[in-house]
Amino acid sequence: MAHNQYTLRDPRSLYPSITPPEQRQQEPGIQARMQPVPDLGEKTYEGRDRLPGRKALITGGDSGIGGAVAIAFAREGADVAITYLPDEEEDAQHIVELIKKAGRKAVAIPGDLTDRDFCRELVQRAVQELGGLDILVNNAGRQIVAHRIEDLSDEQFERTLKTNVFGMFWVTKEAVPHMPPGASIICTASLEVYRQLPYLLDYATTKGAINTFTKGLSQQLGPRGIRVNAVAPGPTWTALQVSDGFPTDELPEYGKDTLLGRAGQPAELAPAYVFLASAESSFVMGETLNVNGGTPTP
Ligand code: NAD
Ligand code: MG
Repeated sequence: MAHNQYTLRDPRSLYPSITPPEQRQQEPGIQARMQPVPDLGEKTYEGRDRLPGRKALITGGDSGIGGAVAIAFAREGADVAITYLPDEEEDAQHIVELIKKAGRKAVAIPGDLTDRDFCRELVQRAVQELGGLDILVNNAGRQIVAHRIEDLSDEQFERTLKTNVFGMFWVTKEAVPHMPPGASIICTASLEVYRQLPYLLDYATTKGAINTFTKGLSQQLGPRGIRVNAVAPGPTWTALQVSDGFPTDELPEYGKDTLLGRAGQPAELAPAYVFLASAESSFVMGETLNVNGGTPTP
């Protein structure tokens, strides 16, 4: 039997324990140029009609976790709009092709989420081209190492907050009026909410904000029938790590400190988003679903 996400497999060996060579790209990093290229479930994710006719917008849907979620959503029956930075067209086209191959509509909308006007246009275009919107995945994010607070420039602090927090706020604010009862908003927090690496001060700050935003917005929107939840990934092999999001000289050891002794692959994150998007999770609200390879969280 071919392997998919439902077949019995040992999680320790389901994905290889990678030892990535030292490598460095300019932000945002092109996934196709990584060694090894992350596994988004292209060959393994099997849809079971869990999101029939749904209409999803995924920020940062060109690569990594967002790309894996786009593939999974399409194979579960959803039409999918993705947004990403213009420099990432190469990765975005890979995802667009896979959405189409799943028989679903793919909408590609490049732009910069630190631009408030773009956030507004993005949602308008997604709603127009999908014919509505009932899933929003806030996933785009940036992560740049700065070892000392003295080296954390005001520009970096501002751009990280603008991308990870303001962009999410602007997109969500624009999207909510279009979302019917039954719709789902899923934000992307991080293990950094609970365990802060010393060199990710600005990033960890945004992830704490995202997690709190999720719970607060859930209080607002729950009574309106819109569920808001978060996924908090642990070390997952993506373009973030090779574009100054992790110390370059430590890349060969990336993720080896999990209980499985290996980093996660984006393919292993996608099912959490599928669960939170579908009505299977109808009573799950304001929750943070940790997918981190075993680090205990409060
Ligand atoms: P990724 O680089 O593949 O995806 C991040 C995406 O964010 C990029 O592809 C890019 O399209 C988008 N983005 C960044 N800045 C943007 C901007 N200004 N405007 C528009 N789009 C922008 O990496 P990933 O690891 O899949 O990241 C996805 C999410 O997962 C992020 O929020 C990240 O913080 C979170 N996360 C990742 C890990 C991990 O270990 N990889 C762990 C915890 C949380
Ligand atoms: Mg990318």
